[in-house]
Amino acid sequence: MCAATITESQVRESLKAVNDPEIGRSLVDLDMVGPIEIGAGNAVSATIHLPTPAYPRRERISQAIQAVLSAKIPGIGHVDVKFDAHVKGKQSGGAIGLRAQNVIAVGSGKGGVGKSTVAASLAVGLQLCGARVGLMDADIYGPSIPHLLGVSGPGHRPEIAEEQGPDGKAVRRIQPIDAEGLKVMSIGFLVGPDEPIIVRGPILHGTIRQFLAETAWGELDYLIIDLPPGTGDIALTLSQLLGLAGAVVVCTPQQLALLDAVKAINMFRKVKIPVLGLVENMSGDIFGRGGAKQKAAEMHVPFLGEIPIDAQIRVNGDAGRIRDLFAESCPSRGHLMNICEQTAIQIARTLLETPAMPTLEML
Ligand code: ADP
Repeated sequence: MCAATITESQVRESLKAVNDPEIGRSLVDLDMVGPIEIGAGNAVSATIHLPTPAYPRRERISQAIQAVLSAKIPGIGHVDVKFDAHVKGKQSGGAIGLRAQNVIAVGSGKGGVGKSTVAASLAVGLQLCGARVGLMDADIYGPSIPHLLGVSGPGHRPEIAEEQGPDGKAVRRIQPIDAEGLKVMSIGFLVGPDEPIIVRGPILHGTIRQFLAETAWGELDYLIIDLPPGTGDIALTLSQLLGLAGAVVVCTPQQLALLDAVKAINMFRKVKIPVLGLVENMSGDIFGRGGAKQKAAEMHVPFLGEIPIDAQIRVNGDAGRIRDLFAESCPSRGHLMNICEQTAIQIARTLLETPAMPTLEML
C-alpha cells in the first residue's frame, strides 16, 4: 500500500509543537521555520532560521523536529533539517550612521580581571561562528585590544578614506584595522605605546562618538565595545548615543572582586544599559570558583559562564594570539565558545521577550 502524500502545511502545523530548546517557545511562533520541501517518498527537508550563528548545540532542534514529525505524521519519510542564521537586533545606531544589529559593551568593576581578554574572545568567537563582527576599544586609558589581537605597533595606523555617503555625497571615514577579518578600532592605533593619554570629559565623549559614527564598520551583526574599568563615563555616553543590546560584566571569583561586579551591574542599570550577564574569569584554585554564579543569581542577572585560570591565556594574550585559544586542541576553547554562545543567545532571548512597538498607521 502506498502512503498518502503529505503536505507542507501539515508539516508546518506539526512544527508548532516543537519548542526552541534555548528560548522555550514554539519554532513557529518565533518565526524560525523557513522553507519546507517535500520530496520523493515523503522525505521532508526543512530549513530553520537561527537567531544567531553562535547557536549552541543545534542538533537538539533537528532531533526534536524529527521526533515530533515522525510521531504526528504517519508515512513521513526521511526528515532533513538545515540551518541558516539571521542575526536580528535593535539596529539602534541609525541616528549616528552605525549599521550594527547589536552593540555589546564589556565592562568590569575594576582592572586586571580579564575584561579585555573576554571582549577580544567574544569578538573572535562570534566571528568564527560566522557573524560579522567589529571590536571597538573604548578603554581609552589602557587600550590593550590591538596588542591582544597582534595588530599593535607601526604599520597598524588607521587610514582615512573617502566613501560615498547615503545621500551620494563623499564622506571621510576611518578605516578600521583588519585582524584576520575582524574590524578593530582603538585609540591605541593613534598614540604611541608609551604616550600618556590625557583626555577630558567632552573630548572623551567626542572620541567615542567619532569611533562609532565615523569608522567604516560596514554592516555588522555584533559590535563589541571594551569599556574602561570602573567608571560609568563612557557607558553613559554610549547609552546616550544608541540603544545597546546590553553589557557583559566580567569579574573574578573572590569576594572583593564580586563587590566591584555588583557596582558595575548597578552602574549599567543606572545608565539604562541592560545587563546580559556575568562572566567569571580566572576561576580555579587560587581565587576559588562559583562566586560569580551565586552573585548573578542574587542580582537576577544571567550567568554566562566561567573561564578557568590558565597560563596559556596569558601567554597567548601577551603574544597577540587570542585567536589561537579557539584552536580545537586548546583547553580554553570550550569555555570561551560557551560564553560567546550564551551571550548571543541572551541577546536573542531579550529581543524576543521585548515586544516590538506597534507601528502607527499613517492616515
Ligand atoms: P582587564 O582588561 O580587566 O584589565 P586583561 O584582559 O588585560 O584584563 O587581563 C589581565 C591579565 O590577565 C592579562 O595578562 C591576561 O592575559 C591575563 N588573563 C586574563 N584572563 C586569564 C585567565 N583566565 N587565565 C590566566 N590569565 C588570564
